[in-house]
Amino acid sequence: MIISVASGKGGTGKTTVATNLALSLSHDVTLLDCDVEEPNAQLFIKAPFHSRETVYTFIPEIDDQRCTGCGACADICRFNALAVIGSTVMVFPELCHSCGGCLEVCKEDAIIENKRELGFIETGRKNNVTFSQGVLRVGEAMSPPLIRAVRQKSDEESCTIIDAPPGTSCPVITSMKNTDFVLLVTEPTPFGLHDLSLAVEAVKLLKIPCGLVINRSDIGNKEVHNYAEKEGIPILLEIPFDRKIAEIYSRGQMLVEELPDWQQAFEKLYRDILSILESEQVTP
Ligand code: SF4
Ligand code: SF4
Repeated sequence: MIISVASGKGGTGKTTVATNLALSLSHDVTLLDCDVEEPNAQLFIKAPFHSRETVYTFIPEIDDQRCTGCGACADICRFNALAVIGSTVMVFPELCHSCGGCLEVCKEDAIIENKRELGFIETGRKNNVTFSQGVLRVGEAMSPPLIRAVRQKSDEESCTIIDAPPGTSCPVITSMKNTDFVLLVTEPTPFGLHDLSLAVEAVKLLKIPCGLVINRSDIGNKEVHNYAEKEGIPILLEIPFDRKIAEIYSRGQMLVEELPDWQQAFEKLYRDILSILESEQVTP
């Protein structure tokens, strides 16, 4: 089972939920930090890393000796990463999404498979949690291929929890796609509601069941609660605006380790997700 923890906006407590959920379980779990532009789950998990691997992506290089300037590669590239000027093909590597389309269409074998460093993946373990984080190379704009590489670290034998990037753009979709459940973390403010509704639209398009965690649930107003009821989205956990919780967070500590009641709350959250998935399976 793969659960992705997402939010329409940053700063809602998504990483707090992902890390505490992972550490609260009594069985093995894989936690993946797919927020590769700004991974921060390790600040809380503190899993000693035992491996690090560099991740590369394909980019085309043109063999001028073979290229006839036919333009087929530029025509198929949806990302304008190739342009034919006269009989010369120009490559704009920062626009390339590494789809391989240009390789497929070049009848002259004039495209050489070059590679670009995307970043790296570090893996470690703490208690029941095998933790991997992707770290995007500074200056690299394409995070989805690195996110896909991080997702390959999921273990089919154990539950995987994904800490997705904030927002609703391509990296978020790459993190949520083909997961079994999306846990959306929000806060009861107008901004929280606005960005939550965008995230819900994305989850609906992907046809993945979802539930809500409302963080700082006793600030703001009840509009998020009303929205959840109207959309039929279950509220699975509410975390109050509490000084003790804020202090634990600011020290980089784990709620489930410092306050035993939260261990039970996160265990219940997991059981509730399982129940929802089981009921989805019996509902035709
Ligand atoms: S498809 Fe091949 S031959 Fe045609 S312009 Fe591109 S690289 Fe050159
Ligand atoms: S690999 Fe795909 S995105 Fe990159 S240049 Fe070729 S066609 Fe364009």
